[in-house]
Amino acid sequence: MTTAHKRRRVIAGNWKMYKNLGETRDFFDAFLPLVRDVRDRDVVVIPPFTAISAAVERAAGSAVAIGAQDVYWGKNGALTGEICAGMLADAGCRYVLVGHSERRQFFHETDDTVARKALAVLSEGLTPIVCVGETLENRDAGLEKEVLRRQFSGGPGSLTADEFSRILMAYEPIWAIGTGRTATPEIAAAAHEFIRACAAEQYTAGHALALRVLYGGSVKPDNIQGLMAQDELDGALVGGASLDAKSFASIVNYT
Ligand code: PEP
Repeated sequence: MTTAHKRRRVIAGNWKMYKNLGETRDFFDAFLPLVRDVRDRDVVVIPPFTAISAAVERAAGSAVAIGAQDVYWGKNGALTGEICAGMLADAGCRYVLVGHSERRQFFHETDDTVARKALAVLSEGLTPIVCVGETLENRDAGLEKEVLRRQFSGGPGSLTADEFSRILMAYEPIWAIGTGRTATPEIAAAAHEFIRACAAEQYTAGHALALRVLYGGSVKPDNIQGLMAQDELDGALVGGASLDAKSFASIVNYT
């Protein structure tokens, strides 16, 4: 890309269920010096709940923000095992993943709970990163747009216009997550364009234009450049490759 991207890009690393406290501290000790000079994009690390405080402590004073991987939509209550958005804000999180495909697939996350969670996150002043994406079967059957539209309208599309203007979205085709099979930059761009069209239909062209959509699915140091050459892609949500400080830093530092 020769011109500056019109929306500020975000590179977020989702650690999933990896890293204990020591590994978290070691990661930041290695990672922060490698991304010290990054100014023109947002960088987010999303550790498991148990490592959030250590990550916040280590990242203090840097430009790296910390996020959480999930949240419950209510406030404090008798809900054993759940964590609410107020707790995440208190722990120092600024972002929360909502509706990651692994939550949808393995933990029965629905579009309705995605909408509730996004709202709960916003109500604490945090930024939800709302994930959508189709399965391989959906794509092979030519149903990807239908699935994306349904996930959009039942989830982020149920927010008010003001609420919607404060979220990020991530397009993560399930067939590309953890499989080493990345969507081509063109496939990703077409899906992002479609999500933006859903936003324009539901809200306004201005909302669609301002919406930041990250791409996720086997993003690696050797494919980030090609993906970011697409104007439709406003950053990346990185799983596996965010676990290693050097590899995540080289993704963050793409030119
Ligand atoms: C993810 O966890 O959101 C993800 C995209 O994983 P990976 O980069 O490993 O495919």
